[in-house]
Formats: sequence, structure tokens, C-alpha cells
Amino acid sequence: MSHAVFIGLGSNLSDPIQQVTQSIKELGTLKNCTLIRASSLYETPPMGPQDQPNYVNAVVEIETELSPQALLLTLQTLENQHARTRDTGKWEARTLDLDILHYEGVQSTDATLTLPHSGLHKRNFVLYPLLEISPHLNIPNLGKIAQLIEQLNEPIPTIVQPKSLDK
Ligand code: ATP
Ligand code: CA
Ligand code: CA
Repeated sequence: MSHAVFIGLGSNLSDPIQQVTQSIKELGTLKNCTLIRASSLYETPPMGPQDQPNYVNAVVEIETELSPQALLLTLQTLENQHARTRDTGKWEARTLDLDILHYEGVQSTDATLTLPHSGLHKRNFVLYPLLEISPHLNIPNLGKIAQLIEQLNEPIPTIVQPKSLDK
């Protein structure tokens, strides 16, 4: 059975636009995954340590047969293929970060896989791309994306590459 899943992408090292563009393509070729939609690319200031470059962020929707755990492992493998290192402090610069934002029908408070993602409603670089690709999405226990944007009350991040029409 296939499930709708939303994935957040972020990069601020080694040509971030290319990292994110390339990994969107790679997500579309993963076994048991189909790329449904991809957002524009947005530029946002870093969270946490400020002595690092701005981030490029995007969100994609996929359909997948993979379980949440199997998908997390697959995404971590993809991060590793993009030379992601994990020996840094929290929210330090990285070539590629892939977070599972929402996995249809699944809620979890497990620290190794929290669903929906614990930062979903607190990050404008997640909410605006989500609104762009899935304006009616309703997140369990949180609500509709437009309401979450209103509650967060932060401006839309700069779009560095508009959504491509051929997706
Ligand atoms: P944040 O999760 O606040 O965006 P981060 O992406 O920088 O921070 P990472 O170092 O990439 O954090 O991941 C730390 C751990 O978060 C991972 O090892 C993973 O097990 C766990 N994790 C929990 N929930 C999720 C989720 N929904 N998607 C991806 N990883 C998750
Ligand atoms: Ca993250
Ligand atoms: Ca992550």
C-alpha cells in the first residue's frame, strides 16, 4: 500500500541549489517511491549557529511503499551519498538534510523518528513550501498549513528558484 509523505530538504554547503535540485531528482528514482510534487527553492538564514552560510530549502511530496523507518534509513543513505557528515554540533552546516515532515496516517513521539516532524509548525521554510505544493494539507493535531503560517507569523522566505513547470 502506498502512502503520501512530505519531505523537507535543506543544504548550505557545496553548491546548495545543486545539492537540493539533484536530491529531488534522486528522490524520484528511489525504489518504491514516486515523486508527486516539488516546491520552489527558498533561501533562509541558518537556525542555531549563525557563522554559517544561508540555507536552500524545499519540500517534496512522494508516494511510497516504504515504512516510515525504512524511508528514514533510505533518506539517511541519500544524505551520506551527498557527503553529509554527522560529527558536528546541532544545526551546523551540512551538504544535505532530509527530514520526514509528515507521513500520512502515522504519528510518533519516538526520538529517532518523530512524526509529524517536531519543527514543522515552527519553520517558515517548511510551511511556505508545503502551502505551495499542498494547500489543503491538514497535519494531525496541528491543523491546516495556512493556519500554521498565520500562527507562526513570519514572512515568506526568498524564492531562489521557482517551481519548475515540468514536475
Ligand atoms: P531538526 O530535526 O531539528 O531539523 P537536524 O535535521 O539538524 O535537526 P539531524 O542531525 O539531521 O537533525 O537528525 C538527528 C536525528 O533526528 C536523526 O538521527 C533521526 O533519527 C531523528 N529524527 C527524528 N524525527 C525525524 C524525522 N521526522 N525526520 C528525520 N529525522 C528524524
Ligand atoms: Ca532538519
Ligand atoms: Ca535531519
